[in-house]
Amino acid sequence: MIWYPYEQMKTMHTPYKILDAQGVYLRTEDQTLIDSISSWWCVIHGYKHPELTAAIQAQAGRFCHVMLGGLTHQPVEDLAARLQAFLPGDLDHCFFSDSGSVGVEVALKMALQYNTNQGRKRPLVLALEHAYHGDTFRAMEVGDDEDYHFAFDQKQGVIHIPTEIPALEAAFQAYHDQLNSFLVEPLLQGAGGMRMYDLPFLERARQLCDRYDVLLIFDEVATGFGRTGHRFVADRVLPDILVLGKALTGGYIGHAATVANHKVFQAFYSDDPRRALMHGPTFMGNALACAAACKGIEIFERENYMAKIQRIEAISRREMAAFTDPRIKEVRIMGGCTCVEVYDPKTLEGFQQFAYQRGVFSRPFLSYLYSMVPYVIQEEELVQIFDTMKAWFRRG
Ligand SMILES: *Cc1c(COP(=O)(O)O)cnc(C)c1O
Repeated sequence: MIWYPYEQMKTMHTPYKILDAQGVYLRTEDQTLIDSISSWWCVIHGYKHPELTAAIQAQAGRFCHVMLGGLTHQPVEDLAARLQAFLPGDLDHCFFSDSGSVGVEVALKMALQYNTNQGRKRPLVLALEHAYHGDTFRAMEVGDDEDYHFAFDQKQGVIHIPTEIPALEAAFQAYHDQLNSFLVEPLLQGAGGMRMYDLPFLERARQLCDRYDVLLIFDEVATGFGRTGHRFVADRVLPDILVLGKALTGGYIGHAATVANHKVFQAFYSDDPRRALMHGPTFMGNALACAAACKGIEIFERENYMAKIQRIEAISRREMAAFTDPRIKEVRIMGGCTCVEVYDPKTLEGFQQFAYQRGVFSRPFLSYLYSMVPYVIQEEELVQIFDTMKAWFRRG
């Protein structure tokens, strides 16, 4: 039997069984549903996109996978070249892996070894309160969300701060000579509750990281590819290492990239084999995933997705502008993400079933009801999602 994620198997609701999916729609035996959360935020092009499907099929006709140990192939070379051109600054060195969590692990390893390769001992990582960086052990450690990882209590080597400049300055003051990196979800902290903050915090972080040679790592697994209304937050403040996942492959096949700048790469580049990065996931650079990612980036640029995201944000603001309810603590909107935070999680109990009846798939968690829509969504579909949210509160 299947062991489902984040679920108490004894009490969980039966999951909806998907028979087919196309565009923004999921189809079950008795309902057609708009996927308001893009399958954990990754299906930005929608389902069964003919070009993505064709790209994967064409590659499958050649080969599905060869390892990168001693071998290479065109799709992975194409993706590295595309990312190099697509990403800002000198983020040019792509290390591929199979999931966002592993991508974060790789970034943390890079930051640690960046220092040891230079004969420096810098054991600490600075991170944000309410951070979520994945479910593997080191990623959990830098995470700060009891709701996900309460069963594993081990936080040595990580300092957590709120997204406030004075706290940031104090942390650098106290620990600058022990920090190897500052790891953040830039502007939008997703799984920690769709928490939004401003650019000046990141600009100040960039200054402090420069001053003390601490590597700035952006975990853009969730925010990358336009989710915040910026293509990448890295377009606004340049990190030393950028982690991409989720939307990288449009949700067609799991893959991630940890992209380092020249400074980081140079610290490993040497005649000494012990300075090499010792990491290599079996499925890194998977050919099907790379083919999907290349095609996805092509579509993203050609179809001007940034304009689509601006439109989604404008419609979201228009639809949610005047909406209030005493049970709602805050409505926040950034790019392609809308979050309705309520005071009491009980307020959202039953919403998923309510939305199902109205043709919307939603998955609120804790006190957060949110949408992270596929960018190909039409206006009336987006309005249907917000109408469903509003109807839930209006029903009494
Ligand atoms: C989802 C997520 C991860 C983990 O990615 P997986 O592919 O699920 O391992 C890491 N960081 C952030 C910010 C995420 O949203």
